[in-house]
Amino acid sequence: MSARVIDGQAIAAELRAAVGAEVQRLSRAHALTPGLAVVLVGEDPASSVYVRSKAKQTVEAGMRSFDYRLPESTGEAELLALIARLNADPAVHGILVQLPLPKQIDAQKVLGALDPAKDVDGFHPMNAGRLATGLPALVPCTPVGCIRLAKTVHASLAGLDALVIGRSNIVGKPLIQLLLAENATVTVAHSRTRDLGAACRRADLVFAAVGRPEMVRGDWIKPGATVIDVGINRVTGENGKNRLVGDVAYAEAAEVAGAITPVPRGVGPMTIACLLLNTLRAACAIAGLPEPTV
Ligand code: NAD
Repeated sequence: MSARVIDGQAIAAELRAAVGAEVQRLSRAHALTPGLAVVLVGEDPASSVYVRSKAKQTVEAGMRSFDYRLPESTGEAELLALIARLNADPAVHGILVQLPLPKQIDAQKVLGALDPAKDVDGFHPMNAGRLATGLPALVPCTPVGCIRLAKTVHASLAGLDALVIGRSNIVGKPLIQLLLAENATVTVAHSRTRDLGAACRRADLVFAAVGRPEMVRGDWIKPGATVIDVGINRVTGENGKNRLVGDVAYAEAAEVAGAITPVPRGVGPMTIACLLLNTLRAACAIAGLPEPTV
């Protein structure tokens, strides 16, 4: 069997277009233009590429993009002062502080200083707690994207056996909460899990978010299962060139799975599309307008 490939690139483009249409409607009906502020401290090349891409897609969706680039030497107090200004700025509906931050800055303190209503990354403890207790929340973008991708295969996730590999605050933990909210039966695997292969073989849905190249093997996959690969790992191929691979051994897994996301063009593009969606949601909530139906 050869798995259906879940085209994250195309699904993300559709989502961005739907967000863009809603932004146009808000602008016409309510003179409201959502604004996203992205703060980058330092010169990390990967972060710079990511931030540029976020700004470009924000503008393409008809939103305002506010770009803050601070030097590597920026102090914590200076960054907190910027956050306070952005919290108070009515043109800014979403604030994203690109991680990692330089070591002189306490990232938890900075994330905790964000206005939870503008926390479009969903990393503030208030949003994490709201998600865990089933209250409306801004939810981390990558897990939201994963659920959307899984739902292109399964109209309902209710009752399915879902395995989440990885328990980070950014991906694994919020994904667990979202799957519970979808009534999936959730198993969590992590670095201390004894028999990952056995846990995998039971799962109708596998979400791999570990950061280990091709760790999940094809013979771990239950025939027909849906595999969502969050991992992004740069490896050197036999030809000496760098390439990106996921946490799943794609070629092997695609022989057995019912549906699978590729890397790249799988989960990655969904993350920025869901960031735009979160910014739209934040703008509506702050303006007292109903939740967008995108
Ligand atoms: P992390 O390092 O914070 O967490 C990794 C998790 O994997 C940990 O919870 C750990 O317990 C678990 N783990 C480690 N070794 C394991 C093992 N042998 N077996 C089972 N579990 C094990 O990483 P993260 O931030 O959650 O990111 C995970 C991966 O997802 C990385 O490759 C990252 O680049 C990628 N990522 C992609 C996107 C995207 O937009 N596509 C977004 C965020 C992260």
